[in-house]
Amino acid sequence: MESLETDILIVGAGAAGLSAALHAAPRPVLLVAPEGPDGTSTAAAKGGIAAPLGRGDSIALHATDTLMAADHSGCESTTAAIVAAAADAIRFLREHGLRFDDEGGEPHLHLEAGHSLPRILHADGDRTGAAIQATLWSAARAAAHITIRRDLTAVRLQADDAGITGIVAQGLRGDNLEVHAAQTMLATGGLGQLFAATTNPRHAAGDGLAMALARGVRVAGLEFVQFHPTALYCRSDPLPLLTEALRGAGARLVADGRTFMHTLDPRGDLAPRDIVARGVWEHASHGEDVRLDATAIFGSGRAGEFPSALAACIAQGIDPAAKPIPVTCAAHFHMGGIVIDQVGRTSLPGLWAAGEVAYTGLHGANRLASNSLLEAIVIGSAAGAARRRAGGCSRRGRTGSSIAPAALDLARPEWPQLRKLMWGAMGPVRSGPALSTALARLRRLGLAVDPTQVALRQRIALAEAMLVAARARCESRGAHWRSDFPIRDPSRDGAGALGIMARP
Ligand SMILES: Cc1cc2nc3c(=O)[nH]c(=O)nc-3n(C[C@H](O)[C@H](O)[C@H](O)COP(=O)(O)OP(=O)(O)OC[C@H]3O[C@@H](n4cnc5c(N)ncnc54)[C@H](O)[C@@H]3O)c2cc1C
Repeated sequence: MESLETDILIVGAGAAGLSAALHAAPRPVLLVAPEGPDGTSTAAAKGGIAAPLGRGDSIALHATDTLMAADHSGCESTTAAIVAAAADAIRFLREHGLRFDDEGGEPHLHLEAGHSLPRILHADGDRTGAAIQATLWSAARAAAHITIRRDLTAVRLQADDAGITGIVAQGLRGDNLEVHAAQTMLATGGLGQLFAATTNPRHAAGDGLAMALARGVRVAGLEFVQFHPTALYCRSDPLPLLTEALRGAGARLVADGRTFMHTLDPRGDLAPRDIVARGVWEHASHGEDVRLDATAIFGSGRAGEFPSALAACIAQGIDPAAKPIPVTCAAHFHMGGIVIDQVGRTSLPGLWAAGEVAYTGLHGANRLASNSLLEAIVIGSAAGAARRRAGGCSRRGRTGSSIAPAALDLARPEWPQLRKLMWGAMGPVRSGPALSTALARLRRLGLAVDPTQVALRQRIALAEAMLVAARARCESRGAHWRSDFPIRDPSRDGAGALGIMARP
């Protein structure tokens, strides 16, 4: 197998990977970025980035809101540290040329659900993520210490007795290449693609987490998946997201033509995201036609306030002024991941992680909106700076097993089966018996997969670990809802119950 050596290897070029690469200068970085600047969750982010910069706001207030959303499961010290670094993260983006939308020279701050004050910064309107991605990507391309490889996809981690030594990657022609590195960082994003319905892009399939799990890394909170309540129900993959601001502006959810959210929560359609997602799920699973009635908005000349939603409807041949938009809930964000400390260190020597693939304890059992871009940039930057300070040279590891690595073959029937199975059992409403049935089916599915299908087998093992974690959590907390245990168990309160530690 061909091989190459590098000092620092970073897998993934979203907000986390790019921030890490830029902060690692002048140490040489090899950045593996198969999707280039597009196709990352960062580029898809439409809302914005949270920072406590407004009048009357404070680090303490932002941290309190974050811990409230985390449902008694957030890590206080991590939350305080990440929120305290928000101003630096915004400065870092500005220094690389990002212009936030402002009002009279001051950043215009928006209010979002769960935040007690306006503190969400936007850039280029509802294209904040794309603006961040473009800014950091051009900075990385211009940086002399960074080499970008768009032709490689990581398939598995390599290790020797002293720790992680790099990856095996697949090239565009299906050829394999070993990359040896002194330090390997995973910044591979989330795992929404493990579910049949998701807002996450194609590469957000949990590969980094799955590779690290296969090497025995410490993980936490695998059962905590946030579902977006209103994705446009259509054949696209990923599903287009219909912003929750539509409901804020008066759009109403209807099932078979009747409104229903007021029967589930006194806040009606403005109830928290997980409650609305469960409402959508319940009605859809009874075979009802669930739609978002935004006719009053799109028929009244306010369509210009929601350009992305309008464009998504038009692309699907839907006129949202004429009839309600078909919707589904969809896997959106993973709160769990590889346990890291505040500079991205994992439990495996030589392996680092940052961004959605990692678990810092910021989100606990539920994420507060717009905190994830913040976390990716803060931890990515801290991890890159820590690598800059540490010395190192590449270590040549043994090849590991004799199985020839192979890329994921998405045409294989097991992949859509896995996604359907996860959607059915690990969706917004779960139960012990359904999780057990899914686990048995998934194990049978795994046995049918050829050992050379390393990536698919790793994904199946990750899905199994998620089902096991969800089955073991006999309570409802944050985004994890068990119909057979609908109450939170206070004896499991605290970040420690999710396996968080200051040091992994
Ligand atoms: C539609 C949508 C809207 C969102 N809106 C917001 C918002 O408004 N505010 C907010 O804070 N958060 C939002 N989020 C969440 C946020 O965008 C993500 O949590 C964040 O961008 C994750 O950044 P990341 O760098 O960890 O991962 P990503 O940006 O997803 O980057 C992951 C990188 O890893 C690469 N990769 C993956 N697997 C492999 C592999 N096997 N080999 C090599 N490379 C690989 C990918 O190609 C990509 O380059 C949204 C997410 C989505 C999907």
